[in-house]
Formats: sequence, C-alpha cells, structure tokens
Amino acid sequence: MAAGRESHSVGPLELPAVAYVITQPCIGVKDASCVEVCPVDCIHTDDDSEMYFIDPDECIDCGACVDPCPVDAIFPEDEVPAEWTSFIKINVDYFK
Ligand code: SF4
Repeated sequence: MAAGRESHSVGPLELPAVAYVITQPCIGVKDASCVEVCPVDCIHTDDDSEMYFIDPDECIDCGACVDPCPVDAIFPEDEVPAEWTSFIKINVDYFK
C-alpha cells in the first residue's frame, strides 16, 4: 500500500514533458542502483513510497539509470510499455 500517494484517473494524454520514467517493477524493490548513477541526482523517494520517482524537471535524458536497474523498471517516456503508461503521471505527480 502506498500511503498518501493517490493517483488521479487521468489518461496519459497531454501530460507535461517527462524524460525517463520509473514504472511498476520498482514497486517493492527500490534497489536504488539508479540513484547511484544519476549524474544530476534527480531520482527520489521517501519512506511512505514503495518505489523511486524521476523528477522530470531535473532529468537530463542521459539514460544512465536504465541498465543498472535489476528489474528493468526505467524507460524513456515514449517507450513506456502500454500497461505502465500511468506511471508517467505518477512520476510527475510525486514532485508537485
Ligand atoms: Fe538521471 Fe539520466 Fe536517468 Fe534522467 S535519464 S533519471 S538524468 S540517470
């Protein structure tokens, strides 16, 4: 259960620009290998969240976080698998 993080049922259309996005496989894993390699320190979480999130305003679209992730949870926004597109907004909303 992700306490205090409710997503709104808004579709993936007309979302603000996001570079890379962390998706479903991160939930419950929080390996944090991505955090160690991110050159701009834009991947964040907190104790109440079950996954990490990428700050779209800080991400420089370098892709360094993709390969270190042991569960393949990170994708460029335009390559997020269809079943996980809701995570585009989830990442954005975390930083609002
Ligand atoms: Fe950080 Fe680069 Fe991943 Fe963006 S793409 S979250 S800047 S490592």
